[in-house]
Amino acid sequence: MRAAQHPVQHPAKHRFAEPLPQARWLAGPGRTRTRFGEQAAFREGLYDLGRGCHAWMVPNGSWGETNLGLITCGPQTVLIDTCWDLPHTREMLRLCESLLSHAPIEVVINTHADGDHCWGNQLFEGREIIASHACVHQMHHLSPRAMQAMQHSARFMRHLPVMGVNGLGHYMHDMLAPYDFDGIQITPATVEFTRQRHLCVGGVDITLTEVGPGHTDGDLIVHVPDRRTVYAGDILFVGVTPVMWAGPVANLVAALQHLLDLRPQVIVPGHGPLATPQDVRAAIDYWGFLQEALAPRHRAGLTPEEATVDVLRSVAFCATPFAQWALPERLLTNAYALYREWGTAPSAWGGGKIGQMDLMRRQARVARAWRAQN
Ligand SMILES: [Zn+2]
Repeated sequence: MRAAQHPVQHPAKHRFAEPLPQARWLAGPGRTRTRFGEQAAFREGLYDLGRGCHAWMVPNGSWGETNLGLITCGPQTVLIDTCWDLPHTREMLRLCESLLSHAPIEVVINTHADGDHCWGNQLFEGREIIASHACVHQMHHLSPRAMQAMQHSARFMRHLPVMGVNGLGHYMHDMLAPYDFDGIQITPATVEFTRQRHLCVGGVDITLTEVGPGHTDGDLIVHVPDRRTVYAGDILFVGVTPVMWAGPVANLVAALQHLLDLRPQVIVPGHGPLATPQDVRAAIDYWGFLQEALAPRHRAGLTPEEATVDVLRSVAFCATPFAQWALPERLLTNAYALYREWGTAPSAWGGGKIGQMDLMRRQARVARAWRAQN
């Protein structure tokens, strides 16, 4: 492989932990800070994972810091997921040019419908875009326009100290600040499937397995058996609290177990550094812990928000590795999903499937309480 054609700054003084010994960093933007101004835990950019599998890895895996996959299949490349906005997708394409000039992207796979995995799709119009049927159905649930409006209004909401509006304003402003949702047209998949689909691209076998609903309605994982590599999408977060928008939790755990059963050598999570099997087991443990912690609180009549704050304050939670993961307030979204599964009367906690913004407002409150506690 040739060196990157574009000048890349090498952060001379900064030492990064390499995400996995077999992964080799090839090119990237040379930033030492994340999009949210934190110290980057690993180097951003394109990694060679061996035998034609690559990943575009974005530290530290917070909101929109999404990892993508690139599989070289002879004269073409299969891209797994696109970024949350067009500038970040274009930047990735520019910095991967040394790879893509030999093998252009002809096939795109979306692991699920969250915008940070598919809102860059329009840059691949005319190419084959593959997703699960449930994913395609969900792609229109949230519009980039609405997100842009949220971004603008969050600036003003920060200064409105009523009903938690300022808290939500700060939370959403900080979450969306690195992104530019201008000009995004939802570009859905051109090929959809259910359960499983096998591809053979340039002689490389690739298996797409629908494992949702779980994180979202239509999650899929991408397995390259000959190269013992799996791209997990957002059924797996590493070092970041996972989120279950859809559930049921049993599906999510079964998906993680399936990941282990494939016995891959390399696992690319949707967010965070390259994963080891221990990371997958830790994710399974998280979902087990959460059910055990929330069930008695649910039975005792606590609302999802009360139960979340209670769990986050508990000695049991603080003793787990999960307390070190970023965005612990996502436990609230997970609590709502579990309460839905457990069939609580919606009136008991103020709404059935509550709106995304209401959820975010409550999550902002939990995040503030967590920061005050730590
Ligand atoms: Zn997601």
